[in-house]
Amino acid sequence: MVARLLRLSSSRGLSSSFGPTLRSQRGFATSKAVSKTAIVSGSGQGIGKAIAIRLARDGFDVCVNDLKKNSKMVESVVDEIKALGRNAVPVYADVSKYAQVESMVQTSVDALGPLDVMVANAGIAQVQWAMDAKEADVQKLFEVNFFGVLWQDQVAAKQFIKQGSGGKIINCASIVAFRPFLMIPVYCATKAAVRSLTQSLAMELAQHKITVNGYAPGVVESSMWDLIDAGMGSINGLPKGQNFENTKGSITIGRTSVPDDVAKMVSFLASPDSDYVTGQTMLVDGGMAFS
Ligand code: NAD
Repeated sequence: MVARLLRLSSSRGLSSSFGPTLRSQRGFATSKAVSKTAIVSGSGQGIGKAIAIRLARDGFDVCVNDLKKNSKMVESVVDEIKALGRNAVPVYADVSKYAQVESMVQTSVDALGPLDVMVANAGIAQVQWAMDAKEADVQKLFEVNFFGVLWQDQVAAKQFIKQGSGGKIINCASIVAFRPFLMIPVYCATKAAVRSLTQSLAMELAQHKITVNGYAPGVVESSMWDLIDAGMGSINGLPKGQNFENTKGSITIGRTSVPDDVAKMVSFLASPDSDYVTGQTMLVDGGMAFS
């Protein structure tokens, strides 16, 4: 009877990490009940924080990553997740450094259990004309926004392959991977590269039951947009807040977005409902890219 049940469970994919009641499925695979786990990089604030909390509400235990200088914010996200009844671990790591990403994934697995979802969210922006970009500026943007995503994807995929039950990689791109914004050209190029990498890795990793998708926020209220708004203002002379405000004219839904708008899409990409989706970068832009 037990053997028949086990056969049935594997023929229905019950030992994969993507079924609807994953806690019990993991029970089949590992013979002890373990919850789903996710790493969300750059989750001390902004979009990453909203994703970490949303995934906790969805039933994930979460590794909350950011830079050490943001430890207070990270600790408060960890506390918020624990208050929701989920487990959380803080990990201070610079995602642009391969060795630090490796130790982040190991710490997450040691503290929370096998990895199910990697959200490569951390990113930086810089306002500067392409004609003024210096080698160090370009290098820094690509180190965090592209190399960082590649290292997180590589290390997570190696962990998924070792575990043998697939997994989900979710990369942060941007609307600017579809249509560039003025005054942030190198940032736009890093995000276009992330979108391309997402497609390539989806093809490379499908054989291991790993899906690779991305999300592309539009204009989201966050400290990053405060920085972009100020940087644009110093070029075009518009007062604080005006460059941000001006984006509304080309947003079909008529408002800028909040981090929760993006977290809802990531929740879908991290869930079994997206099992047949791979290589996609999903716009969450209120209908801006086509307007
Ligand atoms: P944010 O600045 O509010 O948060 C980003 C977090 O990432 C910060 O806490 C920062 O410390 C962390 N971080 C930066 N470099 C890191 C590194 N090397 N290692 C680990 N952590 C690092 O920005 P946000 O708006 O929440 O942006 C999150 C992601 O969304 C970024 O990838 C960004 O490019 C992307 N995005 C944002 C918008 C927007 O309108 N805000 C639009 C499209 C895409």
